[in-house]
Amino acid sequence: MGGPEILRPDEPGYDEARRVWNAMIDRRPAAIVRCRGAADVVGALALARRDGLEVGVRCGGHSVAGHAVPDGGLMIDLTPMGGVRVDPEGRRAWVQGGALLGALDAATQPFGLATTAGNVSHTGVGGLTLGGGMGWLARAHGLACDNVVSFEVVTASGDVVRASATENTELYWGLRGGGGNFGVVTEFEFRLHDVGTETLTVELDFPASAAAGAMALWRDLALAAPRRATFEATVTGGVVTLGFVWVGDPDEGRGLARGLEALGAPVEQREIERSYLALQTCGDTPQGHAQRRYWKGHYLPALPDAAIEAFLAQDPSMAASLQTYGGAIADVPADATAFGHRGTAFEYVGAARWTDPVEDATRTTTVRAGASGIAPFARGAYVNALSDDGDAGVGRAYPAASLARLTALKDAVDPDNVFHLNQNIRPSRHAGAAAR
Ligand SMILES: Cc1cc2nc3c(=O)[nH]c(=O)nc-3n(C[C@H](O)[C@H](O)[C@H](O)COP(=O)(O)OP(=O)(O)OC[C@H]3O[C@@H](n4cnc5c(N)ncnc54)[C@H](O)[C@@H]3O)c2cc1C
Repeated sequence: MGGPEILRPDEPGYDEARRVWNAMIDRRPAAIVRCRGAADVVGALALARRDGLEVGVRCGGHSVAGHAVPDGGLMIDLTPMGGVRVDPEGRRAWVQGGALLGALDAATQPFGLATTAGNVSHTGVGGLTLGGGMGWLARAHGLACDNVVSFEVVTASGDVVRASATENTELYWGLRGGGGNFGVVTEFEFRLHDVGTETLTVELDFPASAAAGAMALWRDLALAAPRRATFEATVTGGVVTLGFVWVGDPDEGRGLARGLEALGAPVEQREIERSYLALQTCGDTPQGHAQRRYWKGHYLPALPDAAIEAFLAQDPSMAASLQTYGGAIADVPADATAFGHRGTAFEYVGAARWTDPVEDATRTTTVRAGASGIAPFARGAYVNALSDDGDAGVGRAYPAASLARLTALKDAVDPDNVFHLNQNIRPSRHAGAAAR
């Protein structure tokens, strides 16, 4: 059968394989190893070691910083490993390390089952789950990482190991939130939940300049909402959209929609009933590839009125969103997984997309300014919402005790920092080294 396909610059398929979601990323690996299983990953790591090449790991390619693509290095391309196997009776799914969220949802929904996955189906299970994994099911069933029963991992030394509650338990702790720092995950075993196939989305549009009162009421409803509802607010172009997503029987979610009537008369409103699969793919086109992107994120323990004002004042050329956490996310003790910010009430993301490189500086400056406006209310950040934040960002993503424990794990499993193209947990001997 031979080894994996290796693409070198200018070979057919090379340009397609190095392209990722953010069109600002234009890097040229020396080799792209298209892995079909753990043995190929072991071989790729050996090749990188032999040739002294920097290693990047690619699943869905949605890291906004483009961490998957090493310039002049070796890209471990997991995209050929996109398979999902489901045991509906045992409520388990085994997902290969290069799978996209859409493959996971498509395999589980015929049984009315699902596990927490993000909101855009072309995002990778790999990066999303290893950083935490927020989605419409998280308040009811925990983050994606909370639903991983076991991982199959290729370590920096080329060993293939399992990590679970009974095997390599410290690695199991670190893989649930610590990102791609500890090895290449070739298979995730997920717990599945009976969520049915129906959803309801309710959205009310208000002029942002006159929505502070409505948004304060929305906040109060959001904090008291049942776990099957995830409240979301988006502001862009001078309009704020306030509402929620309900997973389950739409009639049961409608009572909550009536509660939103207290917000006053919107300029427009929508109540959308659709299948869970349709919900999970409705963002695919607006959040599509081939655009230049930049974003910044914060976690907020509360949403005081002043934070609402800062949110509504975001520049109309960018889009900013708030999404509720809590529920099952907060049930998990802060030290049970590497994902530590369990007390988060709202996640903020400020983002921009454009196509002309001439706009790069103004667009990124605008997003930074928007995020600065929210910073006084923030406590921590989601590691998967970091971009070019460097060590300071990693410091915000993990509480101090978690970061110390992650560093000890890194020292044990990747002391040479082979896996550093990520939001990097530096091993002790690399502490203070210049950020790459
Ligand atoms: C359009 C869009 C929508 C999003 N929606 C959500 C959302 O709803 N919820 C949410 O929580 N996040 C969301 N995110 C953020 C997302 O979780 C991160 O961007 C994440 O890094 C994407 O993972 P990926 O596998 O697609 O990216 P990649 O760029 O392929 O990987 C990112 C990094 O993850 C690591 N990695 C990936 N796979 C593996 C693996 N198998 N083994 C080891 N390391 C690996 C590597 O370090 C890699 O550099 C979204 C991002 C985008 C662009």
